[in-house]
Amino acid sequence: FICSSFLSYQAADLIIQLSSTPKMKPDVVDFGTVFTDHMLTVEWNAIEGWQTPLIRPFGNLSLHPACSSLHYGIQLFEGLMVYRGDDNRLRLFRPLMNMSRMAKSANRACLPAFDESELLECIRRLVEIDQDWVPCSESSSLYIRPTLIGTEPSLGVKKPTRALLYVILCQAGSYFNTEGKALSLWADPKYTRAWKGGTGDCKMGGNYGGTLFAQYEAGSHGCEQVLWLYGEDHQITEAGTMNIFLHWINEDGEEELATPPLDGIILPGVTRQSILELTKKWDEFKVLERYLTMKQLCSALKQQRLKEMFGSGTACRICPVGNIMYQGKILQLPCLEKSSLSSRIAAELADIQVSG
Ligand code: PMP
Repeated sequence: FICSSFLSYQAADLIIQLSSTPKMKPDVVDFGTVFTDHMLTVEWNAIEGWQTPLIRPFGNLSLHPACSSLHYGIQLFEGLMVYRGDDNRLRLFRPLMNMSRMAKSANRACLPAFDESELLECIRRLVEIDQDWVPCSESSSLYIRPTLIGTEPSLGVKKPTRALLYVILCQAGSYFNTEGKALSLWADPKYTRAWKGGTGDCKMGGNYGGTLFAQYEAGSHGCEQVLWLYGEDHQITEAGTMNIFLHWINEDGEEELATPPLDGIILPGVTRQSILELTKKWDEFKVLERYLTMKQLCSALKQQRLKEMFGSGTACRICPVGNIMYQGKILQLPCLEKSSLSSRIAAELADIQVSG
């Protein structure tokens, strides 16, 4: 047998089967509910390696009931956007960063390695075929969901010898915070999203399914999302499925934009990285990856050193935080000023996303 897990499929070999029943495109939809007409699938097995990639009409998958992704969560996914610019051209935002994060998740999940640039080219072809689904509106875009699942038809907990890589596309709503509303967060150290040595820095389904319970508890306290804390000192790590940023005057009296470091429990967000690079380029204040604790946040708030806190992510973009429920108190945060850093960052990112 050839050891073929690294033998790549080639985008040039793509087989394309077009749908004969294209769907109506609805105007406004909830995120992730309406999918386009086509999907990409590439099968893999440990003996023959990657098979020929296929673009085919969107439809259900047929899986063995013992499929390892269903039983043991041996799977991963990615999320990126394609935007339509004023010039009517379609642009993906930093897709190679998603491809490399996906490769890292695959390695951690014991799923097969794949060629990142060939996958990107297959995605580009899929988007081209379904390009009419990319909204013309400035305030919406098309979301790309690459997924890799173990399809081992056995209940043994082991490295899959079969896998399926597939990509689906769905409409996503506004990328501006049009409602002008700031998030309310619930911070309770009794739940942990990720831990050292775990998989929190990978995009695996289990990291998300495991957070639902806490998310609903946040809701029962009247909060929209969970502010994920970590450790005895209640480190601030992420909010919901967003990276978190603090714009403040730090303990030494310097203006600073800070976000927690990538120490294994933080998802390395593409938006996070872009914000760090963008604001470092401005060279107007200190930009730092550093630990942030609730104690530091509370004293900054008390001493009026806190300017703003916001979350970042592909689907939610930039989201200011309005208040945090913590240890029985509601901390009111300054936010939603027209001149805020978050609105400036949001505008600059949107500009890059639609005009390159
Ligand atoms: N943290 C978590 C847990 C996430 O799921 C996401 C969304 N992928 C992010 C942060 C933001 O990452 P990105 O900017 O790449 O969307």
